[in-house]
Amino acid sequence: MTDIVIATNNEGKMAEFEEMRRVLAGSHPTLDRLRFVSQRCWEVSSPVEDADSFCGNALIKARHTAALTGHPAIGDDSGLVVDALDGRPGIFSSRFAGEKASDADNNDKLVDELAKHPDAPRSARFICALAFVRHAEDAKPIVVEGTWEGEVLDAPRGERGFGYDPLFLSPAHGLSVGEMGPDEKHRISHRAHALKQLIEQLAALDTNPA
Ligand code: IMP
Repeated sequence: MTDIVIATNNEGKMAEFEEMRRVLAGSHPTLDRLRFVSQRCWEVSSPVEDADSFCGNALIKARHTAALTGHPAIGDDSGLVVDALDGRPGIFSSRFAGEKASDADNNDKLVDELAKHPDAPRSARFICALAFVRHAEDAKPIVVEGTWEGEVLDAPRGERGFGYDPLFLSPAHGLSVGEMGPDEKHRISHRAHALKQLIEQLAALDTNPA
C-alpha cells in the first residue's frame, strides 16, 4: 500500500475521496494499491490559492501538503462554472459569498445571481483538477481535469453531498446531485473522471518510471 495525502481541509471533499475509493475498488490494480490519508493527521494550514486556473491551484495545494507532511499528495481544486454568469463562481466557488462563506451562503448567492438572468440558459459544469506530486519539489507532477455537464436549478433539491450539489441537476438522471446516492455520483462526477485519469497516468508511470 502507498499512502497519499489528500490536500484538503474540506470535509465534504475528503469524504468523497474515501467514498470513491470504495465505489471504484477493484476497477484498477493501481487504485487498489493506494490508501488515501486525510491531512487532518498533520493539521496542515490552507495555502494561498493565487493561480488563475483550477489546475494551477490544485498544484499549489499538492506541493504545500507534500512539503508539510513529507508524503506524496493529491491536490483537488474544483468548482462550478455557470454560463449565465460568464463562468462564475469558477475558481472562487468556495468563497463566492465571501471569504468565510458556508455552502448554504454560496448556494443562496448563486440563486440570487441567477434570478437576475431569468431568460439565460441554465447550463453549467462542475470541474475538478487533481494534481499529484511525489514530493514538494517534484518536477514532473501529474495534473488532470474532469468535467461534469449539467444545469443549475432555481432552488435547492435534496440534502446529500456538499457544496452546490443541491443546485446542480444531472439532466440524464432528472435528479439534483443532492438527491443522488453517492455511488451514482462517484460513477459520473467531475472528481471521479479526474481520479480515473490520474490512476491511468500513475499506472503508466509504474510501467515506465522515467
Ligand atoms: P476549493 O476547495 O477551493 O477547490 O473549492 C471547491 C468548492 O467548489 C467547494 O467548496 C464547493 O463549493 C464547490 N464544489 C467542488 N466540487 C463540488 C462537488 O462535487 N459538489 C458540490 N460542490 C462542489
